[in-house]
Amino acid sequence: MYDYDLVVIGAGSGGVRAGRLAAGRGLRVAVIEGRHLGGTCVNVGCVPKKLMVYASHFSDDFRDATGFGWTVPTAAFEWNELIAAKDAEITRLNGIYRRLLHGAGAEVVDGWASVTGPHAVEVRCADGSERTLKGERILVAVGGAPVRPDIPGGELALVSDDVFTLPSRPKRLVVVGGGYISVEFACIFAGLGTQVDLVYRGAHFLRGFDDDLRHFVADEMRKKGISLHFNARVECIESEGTDRVCTLNGGETLLTADAVLYAIGRRPATSGLGLEALGVDLDEKGAVKVHTHFQSSVPSIFALGDVTDRLNLTPVALAEAVAFVRTWFDGHPTNMKYENVPTAVFTQPPLATVGLTEAQARSQHDDIEVYTSEFRPMKHALSGSDERTFMKLVVDRTTDRVLGVHMCGADAPEIVQGLAVALQCGATKAQFDATIGIHPTAAEEFVTMREPRGRS
Ligand code: FAD
Repeated sequence: MYDYDLVVIGAGSGGVRAGRLAAGRGLRVAVIEGRHLGGTCVNVGCVPKKLMVYASHFSDDFRDATGFGWTVPTAAFEWNELIAAKDAEITRLNGIYRRLLHGAGAEVVDGWASVTGPHAVEVRCADGSERTLKGERILVAVGGAPVRPDIPGGELALVSDDVFTLPSRPKRLVVVGGGYISVEFACIFAGLGTQVDLVYRGAHFLRGFDDDLRHFVADEMRKKGISLHFNARVECIESEGTDRVCTLNGGETLLTADAVLYAIGRRPATSGLGLEALGVDLDEKGAVKVHTHFQSSVPSIFALGDVTDRLNLTPVALAEAVAFVRTWFDGHPTNMKYENVPTAVFTQPPLATVGLTEAQARSQHDDIEVYTSEFRPMKHALSGSDERTFMKLVVDRTTDRVLGVHMCGADAPEIVQGLAVALQCGATKAQFDATIGIHPTAAEEFVTMREPRGRS
């Protein structure tokens, strides 16, 4: 009756994982991709961004090295070389994704899909042909797309997708937005030598992260020369020759730059997909509304990953794909857990966090203890850098359970990933205290914080 057991639309983090696992179980699977295999993460997200973070950190490394006796010849950076090396790596990864899918037995269909029936998907294929795929189940894993600004001159702005193919590095950059993508790009470009202004309409960026962390990282970014403009709105962008001029707050401030990057959020990529016409419920942003096991309001149509707009992170999309396959193809209903999902922001220094912020903990628990530590990392005793590290534990005094771990400083994502296991296991502060540190590290501070900052 159907050509496929599963038709997956979108070969990003979630779609590839679901397609590969289902095909590996001997099911007939097609995975349709309109752009690049690997999706946002591999092509215009986590991977190229992290490569750029590495690239930009060398400016600090060269400077720090002189404090350890190195003479560093004048360092010069070539944007085009970075982009070419990054592109080569991503092409390699695209090939790996194709081989993984083929190896598992899935058919890869290159083209743009729309859903035309509860079991039918139409594809405009890359070779110009059109196909209709009939699937018992359809999985919508189309991710999201960056929101472009709706202001006069908004068409002059870049979004995150554009950054990875810029022909040259802007010498002056205005970044607009207060989420993790905006602060990461601000730090990347500042590290590469760009003069960066970050503009955010709210009182402080990185909403949702622990307040101490948000303020700490803002101070660190200012030390690196990034100008932060909070409670500020870009009203229009004008072009003057090759310059881009942003007008802020009724003309009170003008910022002139070579480029303006908007990172003001992402929208689920459901427009033109045909879902609404079939009766699939979408929310006001266009995200597919799903029940616990990824089923939409049309029983044969499922969705996971960024298109459901819950926790928009690659490891979450991957875990959802595993839960989807286990539930619908293995007969083991598997619930996703969205608590204690660790996350990082690759600022410089980076920050990472798992569990509850202090504010969340205070609203959910009666008696909270907070432990903090701020210090100059040992490396900077010689490097001369004024970069500092901040760590914080949020503890429920009644049960002694550690509810939140937060850090801003070198290697924070690597350290917090390990501590996320402890939180997942329900570790108590006493167990943190009973753990022997590794010396000399910054991480040992997490098991040696003894004095609570203040009792509630
Ligand atoms: P996607 O990876 O977006 O894949 C969807 C795919 O569907 C795309 O390839 C798209 O081309 C395809 N598609 C869309 N519509 C159609 C159609 N009609 N027909 C055929 N194909 C279609 N997450 C982290 O965990 N860590 C990070 O450090 C991180 N950094 C990020 C940095 C940036 C700049 C961005 C933008 C995102 C970042 N993310 C990060 C988020 C992460 O990339 C996403 O959460 C993840 O890619 C979501 O996976 P997905 O499978 O839901 O969708």
